[in-house]
Amino acid sequence: MSETLRIWGITALLTAVSSVVSQGAVQVLSERIESDVATGAFAFRQVPAPVRLDAAEKATFTLVDGQRDINGGELTKLTDGRLPQQEDQPAENFFFRAGSAGGRLVADLGDVVALRQINTYSWHPGSRGPQVYRLYASDGQAPGFQAQPQRGTDPETCGWKMLTAVDTRPKDGEAGGQHGVSIRESEGSLGRLRFLLFDIARTSGDDPFGQTFFGEIDVIGMDSVAVPIQSEAPPPITRSFVADGGRYHFTLDTTVAPDLTEWADQKLRPVVQDWYPKIVALLPSDGFTARTNVTIRFRNDMGGTPASAGGRFVNCNAGWFRRELQREALGSVVHELVHIVQSYGGGRRGGPNGTRMPGWLVEGIPDYIRWFLYEPQTKGAEITARNLDRARHDASYRISANFLDWVTTNHDPKLVQKLNAAGRAGAYREELWKGATGKTVEELGTEWRRFHEQRLRPPEASKD
Ligand SMILES: [Zn+2]
Repeated sequence: MSETLRIWGITALLTAVSSVVSQGAVQVLSERIESDVATGAFAFRQVPAPVRLDAAEKATFTLVDGQRDINGGELTKLTDGRLPQQEDQPAENFFFRAGSAGGRLVADLGDVVALRQINTYSWHPGSRGPQVYRLYASDGQAPGFQAQPQRGTDPETCGWKMLTAVDTRPKDGEAGGQHGVSIRESEGSLGRLRFLLFDIARTSGDDPFGQTFFGEIDVIGMDSVAVPIQSEAPPPITRSFVADGGRYHFTLDTTVAPDLTEWADQKLRPVVQDWYPKIVALLPSDGFTARTNVTIRFRNDMGGTPASAGGRFVNCNAGWFRRELQREALGSVVHELVHIVQSYGGGRRGGPNGTRMPGWLVEGIPDYIRWFLYEPQTKGAEITARNLDRARHDASYRISANFLDWVTTNHDPKLVQKLNAAGRAGAYREELWKGATGKTVEELGTEWRRFHEQRLRPPEASKD
């Protein structure tokens, strides 16, 4: 791999531990690999890679408090010796239900085992990446031992000892990526243990989706034979390039579609280099700076969605692109690049009275730029006799794009810029149309439709 692994930080956390569990000090190594270099191999520098044939495969995990999110995998995902291959693969991870506070898992190793390491792995591009938990351990032999203490019961009152607390959230910056944690003991063994209790918290107080995507938990005995999990992931294929004299940086990732590498490099790259700066210039607003790092990645897990955008990523459905290379492929990326520049943020910048940009404009503006500025020659957003009946100004995508083009041409050349600036500021209001054109959006919509009706169904043609 030619890329340098970027690691957010390696923290060693020392926790005093009761001699019942161990004579020495528990050490927590944690490490993060950022999303853009993470692969299915979970290749950390210091934290060991996930293994199979570890004691956890004999362990039985039980949910003792909290609810599993049914969009995720079962508890067996933690010990199946298989890793997620992509950064957002709910079914390959165990996680607690969205909106909940987290919960507790207990691993029963079936017998008392001298433990060498407990390693936990997670992967997600956002707040589901980091791990926040407290780990308790027990040999199960203390008087009054409770094997399944609910939240509300301090495990240390019923036969457990806290081994350590883990928190891999970065102090600032993005939290996503692969997080690996290795809990070990400075003198070798974590102690002779049978039960482990993971008391797992959500990673963010105000993000209901901040439930860690746990992909694997390895519990490794002193005598375990640990075999690294073979990565099923292909080696990454990425190309980097810049635009606008180095102002914008792009990565093309065709790892899952090597056959598209040449097309992406030769056809897509010049379009991105040319059009990203143009889109930024078309959609300015006060105090706004567009993203300077964008990754365009091909995926094979997008179902029927041709392309999408989120954060700094444009996602391209490899199967759809193969079919559309000569037709819609390039234009669809232009559309997604507009989404990256829009950066509307759900109206959050508008303060308490902030408004969300209506969905038909969120999609109409990218299609306006795509069909009327990038590829007008394809006439892909025409109103025809066939779609005239569906021609409402707020019908979204191409139809709204046609409406925006018509208003721009006939009433206000700066209309799209104004709408975008308002959407970005969380300040979109219908009065904006009247301010720009002297007419309400409904009036404009009626006028636009009449224009097309007269064009497509001239009065003499309707004579019987
Ligand atoms: Zn879109």
